[in-house]
Amino acid sequence: MLVVQKFGGSSVADTDRIKRVAQRIIETRNAGNDVVVVVSAMGDTTDDLIALARQVTDDPPPREMDMLLSTGEQVSIALVAMALIAAGCPAVSLTGAQAGIYTNGIYAKARIVRVEATRVKQALREGKVVVVAGFQGVDGAQEINTLGRGGSDTTAVALAAALRADLCEIYTDVEGVFTADPRVVPDARQLTEISFDEMLELASLGAVVLHPRAVELGKLYNVPLVVRSSFNNKPGTLIREVSDVEKPAVVSGIAHDSNVAKIGLFDVLDQPGIAATIFSALAAEHIDVDMIVQGAMRDGRNDIAFTVKRNDLRKALDVIATIKDKVGAKGYTFDEDLAKVSIVGAGMVSHPGVAAKMFDALARAGINIEMISTSEIKVSCIIRAERVADAVRVLHAAFNLSQNG
Ligand code: ASP
Ligand code: MG
Repeated sequence: MLVVQKFGGSSVADTDRIKRVAQRIIETRNAGNDVVVVVSAMGDTTDDLIALARQVTDDPPPREMDMLLSTGEQVSIALVAMALIAAGCPAVSLTGAQAGIYTNGIYAKARIVRVEATRVKQALREGKVVVVAGFQGVDGAQEINTLGRGGSDTTAVALAAALRADLCEIYTDVEGVFTADPRVVPDARQLTEISFDEMLELASLGAVVLHPRAVELGKLYNVPLVVRSSFNNKPGTLIREVSDVEKPAVVSGIAHDSNVAKIGLFDVLDQPGIAATIFSALAAEHIDVDMIVQGAMRDGRNDIAFTVKRNDLRKALDVIATIKDKVGAKGYTFDEDLAKVSIVGAGMVSHPGVAAKMFDALARAGINIEMISTSEIKVSCIIRAERVADAVRVLHAAFNLSQNG
C-alpha cells in the first residue's frame, strides 16, 4: 500500500515527539508500505512567527508573511527526515515547491491547483520515505503561498490524490471525530465512521478537526481519510464515501462556530444584479461569505443579510461602504458577537421533523435564533456567541447523541 501520513503541530511539538513520529512512520514502512509524510510546523511555531512579524510592523506585506510562515514547516520536515535517517530509514525532505505543489497565487489562503509528483515518486522508487512540508505551495511565478491556517491537512490529501494513495492518515491531538466538541459536551461520543458530506459540514461549521478543503479534496478524489491520535494506537475515525442505503443516523453530530459576524443591508433595490454586485465585490476581496438570507420584500425593496468570519468583518464593511449606494441600500448594520450552531446528518433529508426539533430545543433553553439556513444534510442557526456552548449541549441531548447510534 501507499500511505500518506500527516502529523500536525502538536504531534511534532518537540524533538522527543519527532522521534516518536519517526518510529510510527518506520513501523508503517516495515509493515510493507510506501510512506509519504506531510508535517506541520512544530507546536505553536506558526503563531510565534505571526507574533514576530507583528513586532516589526502592524501591516506585514502578504508576500513576506507567507515567506516567513512557510519556514515553520521547513524546520519540521528537516528534523523528521533527520530522525528517520538516524533510525536507519532512508528519507528525504521536500518543500512544497520541491514536491510539486502548485498554488493559485493568493497569499495566506492559496488553493492547490496542481500537484506534479514526479520528484516524490522518484524518491519513493529509490526506497525513501518522502517528508513534505505542509501548508505551502508555489505559484506560477515561483512565489511561495500558504494555504490558510490548518492547511497541512490539505497538502496531505492533495498529495494522496495525486499519488493515488490507498489511505491518508491525519495524526493529530484528538482521537477522532466526535458527535460534538468534547470540550463543550463531555459525553460526546467518538464516531467510528462518517461520510465525506457530513465531515465537510462538520469541518466547515467550525469542528476544527480537519481543514475543510482537505475534506473536499478527499471527496472529490475519493481518498479515504482516517483521523487519529498520534499519542496512542486507537483506530480513530474513518471518513469515506457512504452510499444512500448506509445512512441510518438522522443526526450524526452538532457543530459550532464561534467566529461569526453578520452584516445586514436594508432596503436594497429588488431588481436583477443587486445580489451579484454585493457578493462579487466581496469575492473580489477574497472574503468568504457563509450564510446569505434575503427576505422581507416590500415596496420593491429587500433586506439582505450575510455572515462572514469575524476577522473579515472590517474588510467586508469597507466593501459594503463602497457599494451601498450602487445597490440602493438605505443603510446597513453589523454584529460581531455571533456564533453558528448546526445539526449535521446524511439521513436528515427524509426526516422533516428534524429542524422543528432543533428549534424547539433551542427555544426551551431560551436561545434566540437570528438566522436559519438548511441543506440536505444540515440545519444551521445563528445565535448570540455567549449562548453557543448551551446550544451545543441542549442539541446534543435533544438528539440523544451520547447514546450509541
Ligand atoms: N502550521 C500551519 C498552521 O498552524 C499549518 C498547519 O498546521 O496545518 O496553521
Ligand atoms: Mg498548526
